[in-house]
Amino acid sequence: MKHFFRNTKERMLDQKRDPVLDNLDGGITTIEYPEEVRPYPERFRGLHRLTIRDDGSPRCVACLCCSTACPAQCIHIEPEEYPDGDERRGYERYPAKFVIDELRCVFCGFCVQACPCDAIRMDTGMHPTAYDSRDQFIYDKDILVEMPSRDGGRRTANPRHEPGDPTHPGISRDHDH
Ligand code: SF4
Ligand code: SF4
Repeated sequence: MKHFFRNTKERMLDQKRDPVLDNLDGGITTIEYPEEVRPYPERFRGLHRLTIRDDGSPRCVACLCCSTACPAQCIHIEPEEYPDGDERRGYERYPAKFVIDELRCVFCGFCVQACPCDAIRMDTGMHPTAYDSRDQFIYDKDILVEMPSRDGGRRTANPRHEPGDPTHPGISRDHDH
């Protein structure tokens, strides 16, 4: 804290030395993070997001593949059945609860690889914001669906065929078999 106030005072009074210029001859460059941030490489994954359908709901069908594949066991999902009469009932479920503990995550990307629906992605290019409690690193469904990808979108280019749509490849319930 003392260091912070001294830095701030020096900066305000324009007394702060520039470590980059000070060490220019030696070839050492110092970045004063977080005041200065360098662009991340394109291959940097970043935080998770849950992709959405056209109606804004998550594409996730609560199959638990991601939480099963996760080596850090930091994904918690509570699947729920759609109500009677809903075309999706019996084909898929939805995540009543979907939580990722970003502090336990090792950013391996296995969850993304395991997902059969392109419902979870790590293409935000963002790292977690600094918080003062562990609870704030536990991202729930509402946070995850609001996370944008690098290009600002919340969808994915992969098409999704909803149960009941003519394009849906699932079996018809009207068949006799
Ligand atoms: S990136 Fe790896 S550790 Fe993190 S939630 Fe996905 S599977 Fe788990
Ligand atoms: S995010 Fe994908 S893998 Fe995880 S539960 Fe949802 S559909 Fe399954």
